[in-house]
Amino acid sequence: MSLSEKKIEELIHRDFACSCGHTHRADIEHVVIGEGAIGQLVPILLEQKLADGRVFDPASDTVFAVTDVHTHPIAEAYVFPLLREANILFTEYSFPHEKMHTTDAGVEELRANLPSDTSLLIAIGSGTINDLSRFVAFHANLPYYIIGTAPSMDGYASDVSPIIHNNLKTTFSAVCAKTIIGDPALMQGCPALMIGAGLGDIIGKYVAINDWKISQKINGEYCCDEVCDLVLASVKKCVDSVPGLTKRDPQALQYLMESLVLSGMAISFIGTSRPASSSEHHLAHFMEMQSIFRGEYGELHGTNVGLSTCIVSKLYQEFLKLDLDYDKARAHAKAFDPVRWEADVRRFYQSAADEVIKLEQTAKKNDPEEVLRRIDALEANEGFVRAMVEQLVDRTKDTASLLESLDGLTSPKTAGVTRENMRGILLYAKELRNRYSALQIFYDLGVLEELADRVLDYYYGEE
Ligand SMILES: [Zn+2]
Ligand SMILES: [Zn+2]
Repeated sequence: MSLSEKKIEELIHRDFACSCGHTHRADIEHVVIGEGAIGQLVPILLEQKLADGRVFDPASDTVFAVTDVHTHPIAEAYVFPLLREANILFTEYSFPHEKMHTTDAGVEELRANLPSDTSLLIAIGSGTINDLSRFVAFHANLPYYIIGTAPSMDGYASDVSPIIHNNLKTTFSAVCAKTIIGDPALMQGCPALMIGAGLGDIIGKYVAINDWKISQKINGEYCCDEVCDLVLASVKKCVDSVPGLTKRDPQALQYLMESLVLSGMAISFIGTSRPASSSEHHLAHFMEMQSIFRGEYGELHGTNVGLSTCIVSKLYQEFLKLDLDYDKARAHAKAFDPVRWEADVRRFYQSAADEVIKLEQTAKKNDPEEVLRRIDALEANEGFVRAMVEQLVDRTKDTASLLESLDGLTSPKTAGVTRENMRGILLYAKELRNRYSALQIFYDLGVLEELADRVLDYYYGEE
């Protein structure tokens, strides 16, 4: 049976010998998503193995519950009564801030409030609470549970925490949740904006999978078709259930939550974020960095990914209209000017520029010799690339209207990004990671600037 035919609970905590030749594994012990899922919390908890090898004992072990001002009432309504009824001891900390971000200060605040006799940590929340709690649980060597309150991001099944550290978003090791619970009843009241963000993070997978498959063809990069199919099938289920999401239909919320958890599992299966993140995430990360440079925290991660997916879809639409000139592309590759490149990177990446320049020294994404090799491969596979891009454009053509129905952002102009900044983001977001993506394909073919200007004209009006 292929991966995409299996239920989510059949995919965790076991080895899967895949047709791609690799063995895939996601080390979560329980994923319970759907109506009534919260009822599984206590039975699972009572069988939980702790860090010292003992099984959780309600007579002596204490749970530490983490919430914030928005999720505390949800915990009081749905989670704490179950713990009290089962005589499970718990202490709690509720972040008192109206708006919260994943920063060093948040980590310190949580650490300072973590009682030393805690046996297990349960977070009740989504993005920020999950990232902070998972990180603190990791360093305190505690088993970690997450009870989702919004289908807003795909980090539920992740084992890393992105934390803003010294003004830079940095990915730190953290612990993977032992148990993930997603009960639609707990998500009914979450703002449309958060559901739109989750949908944005999910629709972006269309781009991630597309770019990954093109890279397999052009660079011989490893790619797993089964994981691609698994992700694509679950994205389609979410896209098809958008009308239900706007009405908070439990089934639709379940599909989106499942898809967000699956996306994190796909990352575990592959060992990198390749199945979940490509050019759409590079653009989103760059927007997030620019907000931080301005001392702001910007939009939700998934809101930026949704917006970026609209932009990448537009770039690919314009790409299909081009008559590719491979000789011109070769001349463009040879004319790469490292001095100008470095100056531009310093201008747009500011305090993060050194990291980006260091990455290029090993990745050599712009090295003419490598680019020329890829141009040859692109020329030899133009039919394949075009077919892939046509499919991607078709899959993402309704993204803007779907996201708009859930308060998403669909234009960089309305998101408050200036045209000049957006141009810098489009031209230099590919420098952020060593990952072959749409933006690198356009650069290699010498058409990135032209496509960027066309798309900027579309969003900002012709100059
Ligand atoms: Zn595989
Ligand atoms: Zn994401």
